[in-house]
Amino acid sequence: SFADRYGSVFGRQQGLMLKVAGLASSECSASGAWVEDSRGARWLDFGSFGVHLLGHRHPQVVAAVCEQIQQVGLSTKILSNEPIVRAAERLLKMAGSPMDNVIFANSGSEAVECALKLARIATGRRRILAFRHAYHGRTAGALSVSHGYVHHAELMTDGQATFVDVGDLPAVRDALASGQFAAAIIEPIQGEGGIRPVNLSFLEFLRTQTRLHGVRLVLDEIQTGLGRAGCLLCPVSADIRLLGKVLGGGIFPVAAALVDTRQFAAAARDPVVHASSFAASAIAGSVVNAVLDIVTAEDFLPQACRLGRLCREQIGSRLGGHPAIAEIRGDGLMLGIEFKTTSHAGDLVIEAAKRRLLLAFCLTAPSVIRMYPPATISEVDLLEGINRFCDSVNALPI
Ligand code: PMP
Repeated sequence: SFADRYGSVFGRQQGLMLKVAGLASSECSASGAWVEDSRGARWLDFGSFGVHLLGHRHPQVVAAVCEQIQQVGLSTKILSNEPIVRAAERLLKMAGSPMDNVIFANSGSEAVECALKLARIATGRRRILAFRHAYHGRTAGALSVSHGYVHHAELMTDGQATFVDVGDLPAVRDALASGQFAAAIIEPIQGEGGIRPVNLSFLEFLRTQTRLHGVRLVLDEIQTGLGRAGCLLCPVSADIRLLGKVLGGGIFPVAAALVDTRQFAAAARDPVVHASSFAASAIAGSVVNAVLDIVTAEDFLPQACRLGRLCREQIGSRLGGHPAIAEIRGDGLMLGIEFKTTSHAGDLVIEAAKRRLLLAFCLTAPSVIRMYPPATISEVDLLEGINRFCDSVNALPI
């Protein structure tokens, strides 16, 4: 089949898959959960790589950017700008004590780089504990702590990252007790590696052990954070929390490292340890402020959770036991549907595209399809998307 031929090689490049299948049409305009293509057809977008929790072009985020750009866009870097300072204060308030500094970046990967550097400087150690199926980005440092099914991760590790299984308590305990580790980095729910939730008690164990051995704990909440997985932040404490994706409101690239500077001393306040020409601009600040207005509004999280439950219940009851499906898992609006083969998942993306539903693979687990509807979607549109999804699964050649 098409997916047998292309699934494993090009599975992650689904734009190419759709093109080969004759289904490609370029994006033209987008609003909320809908994308209109260059032929005027309307697609439901449940396939974003986690950036569109607020849908496309959320009016409050668009307004914030338009207003800000009339005054200052990219900042001078010499004077501080009010929007980014306010954004930092609000992020710290959301994270609560002991976080007391924010370092902004242009992408999640860069925020990961920042965390790894700070941990190494603060501890004088090199090694990083990471987890099988982890994904932290594709810049060199972030890649070195990402477990890839391609060879890139091994190429970049240079012996400095150690991968263990989530839940393997003895391996974690032994590694952290070795005195060699600067940091442990973990996603509360592994995203690109296949939507794999991590047990809260394991995260707490990791927190206790890292503290015990002077290892810094980095929670990579770039994909799960700000409501995607049903809460704004993971309830387990950390030395650094990383945010990205939703932080940019689906419009502007911005990420952030929230830091407990007591754990990093001078390094966390040194303006040149992690810096970038574009980061921490006034536009980034105004976007973050608009995003925080939306996600901290009283009804946002309950609505996201309600829609997530509805999605899960519908898919579970209509597709549970389907011969092509191995497992349905996740939390909030971060659902993964694991197919028994990559070929089924590849065929599904094409079937869904025929029904104008955009779905995406997990980047390093191409047999897992993510269902990422925006939290701002109407119930009618959500049910329409679920119908398209179920019809697509039922059309798979079994
Ligand atoms: N960490 C996690 C958990 C991610 O899901 C991603 C992106 N998929 C990244 C880091 C990297 O973020 P970016 O693509 O913005 O560099």
